[in-house]
Amino acid sequence: MNDTEKFDDTDFREVVTDLNGEDNNSKTDSFSENIESNTSVENNSSESEYEDICYICHRPESKAGKMIKIPNEICICADCMQKTFDSMNHSGFPLGDMNSFGTMPNISMINLSDLQNMNMIPKSQKLKKKKAKEEKKEEPVLDIKSIPAPHKIKASLDEYVVGQEHAKKIMAVAVYNHYKRVGCDNSDGVEIEKSNMLMLGPTGSGKTYMVRTLAKLLNVPLAIADATSLTEAGYIGDDIESVVSKLLAAADNDVEKAEHGIIFIDEIDKIAKKKNTNQRDVSGESVQQGMLKLLEGAEVEVPVGANSKNAMVPLATVNTKNILFICGGAFPDLEDIIKERLNKKSAMGFHADLKDKYEKEENLLHRVEVEDIRKYGMIPEFLGRLPVIFALDALTENMLVRILTEPKNAIIKQYKKLLAMDEVNLEFEEEALQSIAKKAKKKDVGARALRAIIEEFMLDIMYEIPKDDNIGMVTITKDYIERIGGPVISMRGCSVLEDKLAEA
Ligand code: ADP
Repeated sequence: MNDTEKFDDTDFREVVTDLNGEDNNSKTDSFSENIESNTSVENNSSESEYEDICYICHRPESKAGKMIKIPNEICICADCMQKTFDSMNHSGFPLGDMNSFGTMPNISMINLSDLQNMNMIPKSQKLKKKKAKEEKKEEPVLDIKSIPAPHKIKASLDEYVVGQEHAKKIMAVAVYNHYKRVGCDNSDGVEIEKSNMLMLGPTGSGKTYMVRTLAKLLNVPLAIADATSLTEAGYIGDDIESVVSKLLAAADNDVEKAEHGIIFIDEIDKIAKKKNTNQRDVSGESVQQGMLKLLEGAEVEVPVGANSKNAMVPLATVNTKNILFICGGAFPDLEDIIKERLNKKSAMGFHADLKDKYEKEENLLHRVEVEDIRKYGMIPEFLGRLPVIFALDALTENMLVRILTEPKNAIIKQYKKLLAMDEVNLEFEEEALQSIAKKAKKKDVGARALRAIIEEFMLDIMYEIPKDDNIGMVTITKDYIERIGGPVISMRGCSVLEDKLAEA
């Protein structure tokens, strides 16, 4: 009797017949027993940190996929099992009669006597299982299902955003109402309207930053799109619906998650109606028209993983009813329109004011009215769908100093942390901070200038300091920022310094 003829493993036979759809009612009981015994083996081995290896092809579980387990702790991968069945079928082997298995030509590769006597493959030949990456489930600071009161939302924003008190308050209330609306039932006929927002503010005043922070705190997906790239469908540029497609991508293609997300459309002032033009306005008024149904709430078919629809990309239907739209723009000449309106009003009657009363007012944008934005070139239907309109303050020098030091992830805190890793204490003189703020203010790009300035001055520090282990503290002085002096470097061992390090 050769090895293959020794086959007498009823358990294996039952697995085989079952997978081939043969009638094996009578054997169901023993089969389920096997399954039970196998699962216990499986449980044991799943606890083990080693991968199972296919007995036939010797590939590990991570390559070959889930293993089919047969008694004696033998594992066979699905491929090998399938090949075995295929070769049985092609050889005309009557599967019902497994007793004649030994005479089958192709099956001899399973050395069945070995199956019986098989010892476990030594550990030295087994691959260690890759540790499953611990999925970090991000807990939202604010939970949209039980949305906290507006003052709590604002308090969370306060940790990141300096100043902009009015804007933070309005945003907190709008978001609070929005997510309450999402969660409420409309069976009583009272339908709460969407609180889409229009945010006006000079460049670098923190429009994008505030929206980003809000989305992070709520842990909802956020898509940031630029209105300048949008065009009417069919023209060169991005379709309007591509913004929803971006949101879907930000939500890892989870439609339900995307439907509770936030879409921020920046540079919205660039899609104002073009004045005095005879051509078709494909990137201005038509884009506003095209956005109406999105802002209101509609089912849109969007391409998954692409910007435009074509035959090759799958489509998903997303309902924008509960998506919060926030539009932002600098509206550069809007102040003139506001001034004109205010001057017209105040130039009449006995209480007429001086003509240049509003000339020097810094935050004129706060006095904006819908009428002004309409004059600017936004169509009334569009503005009607953005009921919450507010402006951000232009950043003052004082605010810029605070932005440098106060937010949770303030840029100076980041540099301090980097140098603390080299056990060096980094300090900034108050006057140095003011000097940086002054320089930034001159650039007229808001807080964006801060990073560039700091990086310029910190480059030498970050390059030179790690060279010398004895340096314990660096103080950035006003003179260094104004390029008439250098930073103050203190060596280790100085008692003041050690106190500072202990504080840090
Ligand atoms: P924009 O208004 O042009 O969208 P951003 O939001 O992109 O400006 O702001 C640029 C950077 O300036 C942000 O990444 C943020 O670090 C910083 N910043 C702006 N305003 C503030 C603020 N009020 N508080 C804290 N950081 C701010």
